[in-house]
Amino acid sequence: MRCWCIKTSPNMLCHFCNNACVRKGWSKNTQKYRCKTCFKYQREQYVYSSRLITDQQIIQLTKEGCGIRSTGRILNISPTTVIKRILKIATHLTRSSPILFGQTYQVDELFTYIGNKNNRVCVADSLNPKTREVIDIVLGRRNKSNLKKIISTLVLSDAKQITTDKLNIYKELVPKELHSTKHRGINHIERQNLNLRTHLKRLNRRTICFSKSIRMLDAVLRIYFWFGAKTIL
Ligand SMILES: [Zn+2]
Repeated sequence: MRCWCIKTSPNMLCHFCNNACVRKGWSKNTQKYRCKTCFKYQREQYVYSSRLITDQQIIQLTKEGCGIRSTGRILNISPTTVIKRILKIATHLTRSSPILFGQTYQVDELFTYIGNKNNRVCVADSLNPKTREVIDIVLGRRNKSNLKKIISTLVLSDAKQITTDKLNIYKELVPKELHSTKHRGINHIERQNLNLRTHLKRLNRRTICFSKSIRMLDAVLRIYFWFGAKTIL
């Protein structure tokens, strides 16, 4: 006759709350356990060890321009895990240093696509050419409300000068005494946008590797710009 009493495994402790677990079912040939306190199912050892992959490894590959699937292949984890981890890293990510007062800034945009070539998206960013730090990124359409988000941050940080291209929207947004559209005034940010296009495959021209979602593009850009960024003073 089969015994129905619960057998507590003396060696198995819960991964979450460190209390004793009981044997509870099988998965193929592996014994499953359930915690007596928090009731979470778990196993003694996991074959699929995505837990061992550190955030640093994922960040390094993302910054080197590896896509989601190539990162998954290199680290031997699934693309879904890579997506989840990238989004998790990006949500907790903020600019490393505070915005300095009384600086000069450059603002520019670059275009890319999300999903297909009918869905064009503008990536607007602002740069402090002295510290080479990206102040803000805004994704979306190239319209007044989106560019205002970039400009208002700079105006509030008491900017000495804001250099842009000759787009008409900037004339309405930037105060006249701060605004400059001089020739070769946005060289630094233009160069940075070119670096972006070279380093990240999803921003390349004439490619089939465009991002599938704007959230993912935003997360990857935040990691690229702000994770471990060193400011030059
Ligand atoms: Zn537990």
